[in-house]
Amino acid sequence: MADNVEACGLEEAGTAACDEGKLLDAAYMHFREAVAHLDLEPGMAELLWRGSRSYVVDFPVRMDDGSIRVFSGYRVQHSTHRGPAKGGIRFHPSVDLDEIKALAALMTWKCAVMNIPFGGAKGGVQCNPPELSLSELERITRRFTWEIAGFIGPDRDIPAPDMFTNAQTMAWIMDTYSILAGYTVSGVVTGKPVEVGGSLGREAATAQGCVYAIREAAQYLDLDLRGATVAVQGFGNVGWHVARILSELGCFVVAISDVFGGVHNDKGLAVRRDVKAHCDATGSVVNAPGTEAISNAELLELDVDILVPAAIEGQITRDNAHRVKAKIVAEGANGPTTPSADAILAERGIFVVPDILANGGGVTVSYFEWVQNTQKLFWLEEDINSRLDAIMTRAFHDVLRISDREKVNMRTAAYILAVERVAMAARMRGIFP
Ligand code: NAD
Repeated sequence: MADNVEACGLEEAGTAACDEGKLLDAAYMHFREAVAHLDLEPGMAELLWRGSRSYVVDFPVRMDDGSIRVFSGYRVQHSTHRGPAKGGIRFHPSVDLDEIKALAALMTWKCAVMNIPFGGAKGGVQCNPPELSLSELERITRRFTWEIAGFIGPDRDIPAPDMFTNAQTMAWIMDTYSILAGYTVSGVVTGKPVEVGGSLGREAATAQGCVYAIREAAQYLDLDLRGATVAVQGFGNVGWHVARILSELGCFVVAISDVFGGVHNDKGLAVRRDVKAHCDATGSVVNAPGTEAISNAELLELDVDILVPAAIEGQITRDNAHRVKAKIVAEGANGPTTPSADAILAERGIFVVPDILANGGGVTVSYFEWVQNTQKLFWLEEDINSRLDAIMTRAFHDVLRISDREKVNMRTAAYILAVERVAMAARMRGIFP
């Protein structure tokens, strides 16, 4: 591996210093692993890894009590080799440049795995949404949009929702950008409300895509989804819809959690009737009727067929990976498994559907939304879901083929496929000047 990696321009030194708990370092380790299986020309790996643009802004916002607070915002474009940069904007206290860079690189590989014509980007504002009012969130969003308006655009870089941002946030971004442009620019963001150019099916797209990937994995492993047991960590956009769709398909969703804790019922939770209704009423799944309490740590180690980490990164680590009992781990979240946990899961024969494949449904329907905006037309929800199914299924089997051929796990296979596709585009476009 070292020869290959050094020959194409990556430093060998990085690994020892890598802190795998850090998303950027973990992304780098996965990337290096893939490069070791590819025959890239000198300099290509470094070009693919480092070729990013970062935009960092500190901006003031007037709070409801009249005070002024300064927030830090980031937008990173990791690659535009295969098309405009594409990636979400998150509002979270942990947001910093390293995290956003890692997530932008993940988007590059994700779009390439899904084979959609986008590069990768990511953005975020360091803030704690539960402590902010709706009008404060609107002012943060609009001012951040104004700050990055010259950097984004429908043919340049197209944001979407991520942690603690949603369709409303995207409508504010679209509106602010459109005011600056002087006309409505629907294609500047995806994940908008349907009323202002959003796509049908976008709300549940990440989860729907994840379920298509789970279906293919189950078929490959000869596991019947009807009656399969499932645990879902995180009950936001991804977790809620994954739990809902899987229970509609006949799975027993036995545990669900959020940042406050989790709920458990061996016989299967009534996802919509009990857990979602309770969460809507109280803001958390904790204490939903007909459930017992369970911690996030316990949920990850339950004896279930399918585990879907759909909350945040760094949840399955070298400390708990040997206690994970699921047959399939489908990564709804970005980066929930650290590289050494990955190795432990692989050794124990646990089939991991990696984030850049498992949660690629969101960006795929974002691509559909952008196509509809660009062409000023609307597709029906059935069209969206059948096109999504086709793309997810093809991507899953593209990755599985490489995994079989190279005798590597699904994550390394997905990275090999992605890095090869981006390298091909970079090679064809050449180096300017
Ligand atoms: P969200 O904000 O809607 O929900 C996040 C959920 O995770 C909430 O239930 C929250 O309580 C829970 N959570 C937060 N911190 C936690 C912790 N420490 N322990 C347990 N639970 C915790 O976010 P989302 O849109 O559902 O995104 C979840 C993950 O999926 C993120 O990693 C995101 O990057 C990834 N993702 C989202 C999309 C999308 O379309 N929304 C697409 C691709 C990837």
